[in-house]
Amino acid sequence: MVNERSRSEHRNLINFTIKKNRFLYSLEYQVTMNYYSLNNKAPQTSFRDAVIKGLAPDKGLYFPESIIPLGEDFFKNIDSYSNHEIGYELIKQFVGDEIPVKNLKAIVADTLQFDFPTIEVEKDIYSLELFHGPTMAFKDVGARFMARCLSYFNQENPNEVTVLVATSGDTGGAVASGFLGIKGVNVVILYPSGKVSNIQEKQLTTLGQNIRALEVHGVFDDCQAMVKKAFLDTSITDSMQLTSANSINIARWLPQMFYFVFAYKQLKDRSKKVVFSVPSGNYGNICAGMMAQKLGLPVAFFVASTNANKVVTDYLDSGSYEPKPSVQTISNAMDVGDPSNFIRIEKLHDNDFTKLKANLHSYSYSDDDTRKAMLHLYNNCGYTADPHGAIGYLGLKRELSQLENAQGFFLETAHPVKFLPVMDKNIAAKIEIPKQIEAVIHKEKVATEISTYEELKEYLLDS
Ligand SMILES: *Cc1c(COP(=O)(O)O)cnc(C)c1O
Repeated sequence: MVNERSRSEHRNLINFTIKKNRFLYSLEYQVTMNYYSLNNKAPQTSFRDAVIKGLAPDKGLYFPESIIPLGEDFFKNIDSYSNHEIGYELIKQFVGDEIPVKNLKAIVADTLQFDFPTIEVEKDIYSLELFHGPTMAFKDVGARFMARCLSYFNQENPNEVTVLVATSGDTGGAVASGFLGIKGVNVVILYPSGKVSNIQEKQLTTLGQNIRALEVHGVFDDCQAMVKKAFLDTSITDSMQLTSANSINIARWLPQMFYFVFAYKQLKDRSKKVVFSVPSGNYGNICAGMMAQKLGLPVAFFVASTNANKVVTDYLDSGSYEPKPSVQTISNAMDVGDPSNFIRIEKLHDNDFTKLKANLHSYSYSDDDTRKAMLHLYNNCGYTADPHGAIGYLGLKRELSQLENAQGFFLETAHPVKFLPVMDKNIAAKIEIPKQIEAVIHKEKVATEISTYEELKEYLLDS
């Protein structure tokens, strides 16, 4: 017997209280969350279809139709929630009723099987270490969550899904590990021959099972172009369901909200302003932080710290957005000339430039600045940062020097062991090889070499 039904503050959450045999049962029901395309030329779709499709048919990125804050109490009482509970509370409205509460809680718990420590490197400056997952990259969280959602949806779907992804570094490894052994999902990863580090190559070519690697004779842009072409090629898409696993996919993008809240939870003093500095390439990570802020996380503003690829830095200065071809740097995960998630950031600020400027600052740093920052952190703070984290540190330091009563985090997005060739020799020599890396480094690489799009097509259709 259902005797109470409230739909008050959480519009897409219905609470039922059931009275049976003198006992009161409280049940939580989600209702469907719809996603629309930011190009506005495709029909709205469900969470499930948005995850399976990746990109809308009009090539737009999917965006949730509503975003409902969690309420002040949630953040005030954050100490009383475990990381698994925080993850569930943040994500539930975006999944809606398409995954039952019990299964969604299990997916979140299974995703978050490692720690997210914060280290105070200087007064009020914290490193938020996101590299304690299986491939030592922050992308582990999004990849693991997406893989488990796809696996859930695949239980009722007799057709297999093929995840096709191009990588210039950490995406490939995180996707390979996140999807390993997931039933009904095949993964094909394209990477540019000789352009990823030895460790990164091992992470995506040694797993076997449902993970296959294609070594492309070309650069990252060639891999990316082949993947994009395949998604538009009906002679492929008519015979197989392709999906993407980069941050355009909502199931990879949204769970990245979690660790901003985990960081906040670890603060000793929450009376000071909080700033997050995020080393940004495709702007998925920082955009997820802004989603957490929309849900109520108290953040003063964000800093997008980047390398010579500074389209956003220039845009905030000049008001004109001019994508450029990417240039190569030692922080190569940020070598992106036209960040795909920036359109979501604009949407989160109501496409209002003044609002955006108040909440997003951005700085660009050279390779030389990056090397100096790594040395400074090592010599003066006893902290070993990777090139991306070092750039995050520089952006944060610059902001905090101009702010009163503030503290901040820079996101340490990968373990420095993955960037040994570009690090100072003395620092590199002291880095211990973590067990996750030790486990793959001696395994044998298995990859199929290809040079042309026709070869990719043949490979997909034959398999
Ligand atoms: C992917 C990546 C980034 C950039 O993240 P975006 O979400 O694309 O902005 C930064 N650092 C590392 C180490 C990465 O792998």
